[in-house]
Amino acid sequence: MDLEYHVEKILWTEQQISHRVSELASEIIQDFTPQNNAPAFVGVATGAFLFLADLVRKIQLPISVDFIRADSYGLGTVSNGNPRIPFDLKVDVQGKHVILVEDIVDTGNTLSCLIDHIKSKGASSISVCTLLDKPARRKVHFELVGKGKYYCGFECPDYFVVGYGMDFAELYRNLPYIGVLKPEIYS
Ligand code: 5GP
Ligand code: MG
Repeated sequence: MDLEYHVEKILWTEQQISHRVSELASEIIQDFTPQNNAPAFVGVATGAFLFLADLVRKIQLPISVDFIRADSYGLGTVSNGNPRIPFDLKVDVQGKHVILVEDIVDTGNTLSCLIDHIKSKGASSISVCTLLDKPARRKVHFELVGKGKYYCGFECPDYFVVGYGMDFAELYRNLPYIGVLKPEIYS
């Protein structure tokens, strides 16, 4: 059955996402061009894979790109508040500027845990670039490191969203837009 049939509404279209990703890339380029070491982009797998891929292709600086995995959701829609790191960095971030690239910040648990983890590896600054932020659901305050900055694509209403990398039970990541599923799919 066609995936589109599962989607109740689209929140951001492919064009809107692409436009915003270009804007974020320009902000990052402006902030990091004067630095003498280009940042390491670290995507939080799996949700950030499309955002990371689109973002880094717009950054004309000698950056490195890596992934890290933090699991807190299992197959459900509510964070269990205690993320594990089953897949760690390959790139050495000691003394580097790191930009953590996330699909969405929800409770803040995942980022807080990842920031501590990357800080312990000696990164000289840690920034966060998230496509979506759901401030209504924040439980954990996370602190950026050094001169790290916070880049955010869109503020997300309090829905469980899918698409453009984000899943429900590992499906829907391949939708090119971001939307909400029909209620019967979640139940
Ligand atoms: P946090 O630890 O901030 O609660 O959760 C962050 C992670 O939970 C995100 O990286 C994302 O993978 C997942 N998440 C949070 N909200 C949503 C949502 O609305 N849709 C999907 N698909 N994943 C979400
Ligand atoms: Mg994520």
